[in-house]
Amino acid sequence: MVIVMSDHATQDDVQRVIAEVERRGYQSHPIFGDTRTIVGVIGWKPNENHLDHFRSLRGVDDAIPIAKRYKRTHRHFQPERTTVSVGGVEVGGSRFVMMAGPCTVETREQTLEAAHGVKAAGAQILRGGAYKPSTSPYDFQGLGVEGLRILREAKQATGLPIVTEVMSPAAVEVVVEFADLLQVGTRNAQNYDLLKAVGQTQTPVMLKRGWASTIEEWLLAAEYIIHEGNPNVILCERGIRTFETATRNTLDLSAVAVLKHETHLPVVVDPSQGTGRWHLVPALCKAAVAVGADGLIVEVHPRPEEALKDGAQSLRIDKFQRLMKELQPFIAAAGWTS
Ligand code: PEP
Ligand code: MN
Repeated sequence: MVIVMSDHATQDDVQRVIAEVERRGYQSHPIFGDTRTIVGVIGWKPNENHLDHFRSLRGVDDAIPIAKRYKRTHRHFQPERTTVSVGGVEVGGSRFVMMAGPCTVETREQTLEAAHGVKAAGAQILRGGAYKPSTSPYDFQGLGVEGLRILREAKQATGLPIVTEVMSPAAVEVVVEFADLLQVGTRNAQNYDLLKAVGQTQTPVMLKRGWASTIEEWLLAAEYIIHEGNPNVILCERGIRTFETATRNTLDLSAVAVLKHETHLPVVVDPSQGTGRWHLVPALCKAAVAVGADGLIVEVHPRPEEALKDGAQSLRIDKFQRLMKELQPFIAAAGWTS
């Protein structure tokens, strides 16, 4: 941390700040400039209370943290990239990963048809929500455990590992029995009890970005999971809320570039929730590959017009097949092993 004294600070003010720094067990390193003095604080660990305390002292203009608040997710602390194994599929490894399937498990037939379709097109992981967070209580809430059983059957039929959402700490125990990858959704992205609960398992977690989360808040949420003992975290950019209404959310692809710079964790992109429109999904998939994502998660439904949820953003199976073909040159150009 660096404490910046104001132009009018007196020698006494500076001495008091130094005394306060040392009283807290830190070393002080003052630099006396022509008009201003700054005091470097050595040994300070991110602590908002101390920051506020120093800001409140007489003659202090600001106290600026230098250390990042996230430690386990930052590349300074782990230069090598994390690879997360999802039922044998490596995310963040040498191959680009495609996750696909219905938004929601609606029926056995619909899920199996989607699973076979996405598998034939080349997807490596099957998505599907059994517990659905709905904005309205009158919308379909998912089939619950019955949905998990259907996903298990789809996994047995296709060999695809499963990613599915867990909405509450109480449901973690049952969902881990079925899931290869636990999805924490945007509405739960800062539900710290849930983050702790999934952190106490060893099942990989895909943490969606909260629709109003800054990248720092998102990484701190990931930090909760890792801090509890589960290092298997994948970050998923799914769009944030902005003033724009032409798309359901604003897919923040710059976040992918920032994360690749800041963190060792794999990053995937969800252009389905990101755009809310199936016809925009392929373009954003290509852009996500180009910006450095490690994978994609895409909603695919055998008959989107009949979908109980998110039909407008779901690709038909034939369109998904075409997308997989169109993506190949982009994936190759980005340097992924085919
Ligand atoms: C979903 O994947 O269907 C979903 C609800 O995602 P999000 O939490 O990003 O809205
Ligand atoms: Mn959805």
